[in-house]
Parts: sequence; structure tokens; C-alpha cells
Amino acid sequence: MCTSCPKQKKLLAYLFAFSVSFIAFYFAFSPKEQVTPLSSAKPIVSVSTFTLYEAARAVAGETLQVSSIIPLGSDAHAFSPSPSHVANISKSALFIYSGAGFERWAEPLKNSLPHTVKVIDMSTHVTLIKSEKGSDEHHDDHDHGVDDPHYWLDIDNMIRMTQAMEEEFSKLIPSNAPLYHANAAVYITKLEQLKSDYATGLKECKNRTLVTNHDAFGYLAHANHLKNISVIGLSSDEQPSAKTISEVITLVKKEGIKTIFFEELISDNVAQTIARESGAGAKSLQPLENISEEELKSHQTYESIMRDNLTKLSEAMECR
Ligand SMILES: [Zn+2]
Repeated sequence: MCTSCPKQKKLLAYLFAFSVSFIAFYFAFSPKEQVTPLSSAKPIVSVSTFTLYEAARAVAGETLQVSSIIPLGSDAHAFSPSPSHVANISKSALFIYSGAGFERWAEPLKNSLPHTVKVIDMSTHVTLIKSEKGSDEHHDDHDHGVDDPHYWLDIDNMIRMTQAMEEEFSKLIPSNAPLYHANAAVYITKLEQLKSDYATGLKECKNRTLVTNHDAFGYLAHANHLKNISVIGLSSDEQPSAKTISEVITLVKKEGIKTIFFEELISDNVAQTIARESGAGAKSLQPLENISEEELKSHQTYESIMRDNLTKLSEAMECR
């Protein structure tokens, strides 16, 4: 997308205004969604996604009010902020979003925020890779060469995100810099251990092809030298063509792939169809775009969910 084109900008602004009013209308009649207005004696840090939330909490401890914008258990790709979300973000000292195209609502929003809100696009602090949708034999030209926004699934990027939080929070409250440094170090040590367990766990496998529903695991595949094939694109709301589905079925059969992975918060119809047609099993893999209320209640973390993913991957690929 050409972000500097005035025509596109105008269109985006219209789209944004339209979706905000639509959402306002929708939520006015929807008793389920209630956004509590934020008020806090501590500086507020608003973050968009779960991994940003966890890293921010790990670094900030109790010194900042970290608020997660996207509701638990929802498909994070499909989220759009309501006026009350925007009101909460406007009260923040920092607004941190994933970027790289993950939150399509963040770009138009950031220009409308008060100058008191420092906006941080986290994707500028990590190493991005391009999407490699499909295998080399059957990739389509769409999606190719687009930044893949699911970068937190490379543990090195999670470390970079933590370091960026430490830096930003230290600028916000300089007297807390030693505390933020110590907190970040503790969290990074855990991440380093996780990274080394991934390297060991996926070192020797019978099969190194990862077939997933939506294209969320490119970073995990890249970091662990797996071949990554996804049925739909980078965003969960895309629909695959019949041709793509049949190509994936053929490939799964040919390579003797045992498991097709899908994501719990996203429609799994396509993955189920492919599993059924190819005789493979279907299992869920958590891309950590968001977590469910249940996962939060049972104190699941980035680390515990990544370990769970590792167990499933190593079983599916017959690693030893
Ligand atoms: Zn995704």
C-alpha cells in the first residue's frame, strides 16, 4: 500500500471514520462489549496485542498502568477500536502497537491522538521478514514480498521488544531506569532459555514442513529452519481458492505430513477440510496474537504457550 498517496490517505480516513461510527452504533446496542474508562495515578501505557502486554508488564512491574486494547479471546486481526478505546488511548503516556500492518486501525488513529501520547511502532525495533506464503512450488504473487507482522514468534524479536520497552519506560520515568533494566534482564533470561529449548527440541525431525491455516508462523519456521506452508494469507480474514486448497492437500499427501495446524481464535474450516481430505490430523497451534480468557485465568504466558507449541510441533514432525 502506498501510504504517502493523498488519495489513499483520504480513502483510509473515510474508511476509518465510517468504521468508528459503525462500531459506535454496534457497541451502543451490544451489552457484551464494555470498555472501562481508564483512570490511574500511574502513567498509562496502552498496548495493542498480548505479547506487547506481557513484555510491558514484565519490564514495568507495578510502576505503570499497562492496558491492553484488543479484548481477550478475540481475533486480533479483526479488531477495530471503539470511541471508548480511543478515549483510553488518548489518556496514555505511551501507545505501543505491533505495526508492520498488523493493526490496520493504528496508522489512521495515531495522527488523531493528542501530542501528550508518545506513539511507538514496535515493528521498527525488531527484525522483520517478508511473507513466504505457500511453498516454492505453488506460491501466488499476492502476499509475496509483504512484511510479515507476526514477528513475536521469533524469540529474538521478543527479546528486542523487551529491550525497546526498557528504553522507552526509562525515558518516561528516568529514576526507575535501574528497576526496568533489572526486570528486563530477568525476562530476557527466560526468553534465552526458551530459545535454546526450541533449538534443541526441533534439531532432528523426520519432517520439517509446517502446514498451517493462516500465515502466522513464518518467524517460528524461519528461526527454527522449518519449511512453512500456509493455506490462507497473513490476515485471518482471507479466503483461500479451491486451487490452493487442492494443492495443499496434494502436498500433504506427497510429503506424508501428519498434522495440519490451525489457530483456536480463528475459523478452522479450511484446515479441517484439508486434514479430512488428506488423511492428516488437525491440531491447534497458538500464534499469540491474543490469548483467551481461560488462558489468562490459568496464568498462561508467552513462555508457557510457546512451550506448548513446541511440544505439539515436535510431536507432529517426529523430532527426537
Ligand atoms: Zn495473524
